[in-house]
Amino acid sequence: MAYDVAFDYGHDEDTWEDTGGKGVRRNGKKYEEFHFNRDVGEQARKIVERHGLRVYVTQPASGERVTLNQRTYRANRRNVKAFVSFHANAGTPAADGACVFAWKTSSNANRLADNIVAQFKNAGIDLHGSGRHYSRRGHWTNFHVLRETNMPAVLIEHGFMTNKQDFKEIFGEDSREYRKKCAIADAKGVLDYFGISYDGKDNDSAGPRPVLGQGDKGNDVKLYQKKLLEAGYTMDGHGADGSFGPSTVETTEKFQKKHGLTVDGLAGPKTQAKLKQVLESKKAPEKEDNKYQTQEESDMPFKDVDENKWYADELEEAEKAGIARGLPNDTFNPDEPVTRAEAAVFALRAYKNAKK
Ligand SMILES: [Zn+2]
Repeated sequence: MAYDVAFDYGHDEDTWEDTGGKGVRRNGKKYEEFHFNRDVGEQARKIVERHGLRVYVTQPASGERVTLNQRTYRANRRNVKAFVSFHANAGTPAADGACVFAWKTSSNANRLADNIVAQFKNAGIDLHGSGRHYSRRGHWTNFHVLRETNMPAVLIEHGFMTNKQDFKEIFGEDSREYRKKCAIADAKGVLDYFGISYDGKDNDSAGPRPVLGQGDKGNDVKLYQKKLLEAGYTMDGHGADGSFGPSTVETTEKFQKKHGLTVDGLAGPKTQAKLKQVLESKKAPEKEDNKYQTQEESDMPFKDVDENKWYADELEEAEKAGIARGLPNDTFNPDEPVTRAEAAVFALRAYKNAKK
């Protein structure tokens, strides 16, 4: 069968026990990133398949362990025209928002990434900085799935699991709605890339309504209120409750007065655009904040191994497969000669692994 696009659900089940935990712990509970990645990816798959695209999934939804090399090998072998990797990010508690990575020199990959970010904006999904990152060698953005794929590829981080607000959306009380919204935005971005127009069937969460006013309820209102709070308005202590009541009207009027807009207490396109602009200018100084540590693919388990060395991927795989476990303190001493005893142990582990 010929496929159009590969969907890659990041990581797998039980990463805590086997690969050091791709996810977060909250109140003693472990949340696997894979569960989020798979849910969003599978929802997006159904949407694009409905539009006639044939999707190859590199990682079975069952959660079977698939190495990074296998993921890219499988996609390359099937000659898919685009590759989309689904993830959620990890970083400092303050880092938040979604972003999309594409290899710096691939204009088609960047077009696909831009399409997806444009859909995030339409859907009111918060972005990390500008929402775009460019992957390259010798840099923390040097992700295996972007580097080793032969076709335009993107890696989507749908917010930070390590941020309180984003956590709510990724795993918590808002996750049902948020995951659906992400899936629709991802699917729309992919469809756009293939020149297919979206059939509009998921309209209930397709994007914010153009004008919000007193009496309106729902997520659009909640998002709008959150932005007002972020811009420094107190909303009389009501918080973002998703209900456009008198305090939201009053706050909207205050905002409109301050920024020279028509004062009508309605959050129309001009008021929302102004609010967005105010927030962006507030955020501007931290835009180039790349200091957070991502837990993504280029994560090398050994501190003393350069991710850009020719053997880095194999070593990472050998560690995951339990063949090379490294030394205490997460080091590997890659340039040290191997002893006869070590060689025998490596060989036996590989043999046992192959028999599994
Ligand atoms: Zn991930």
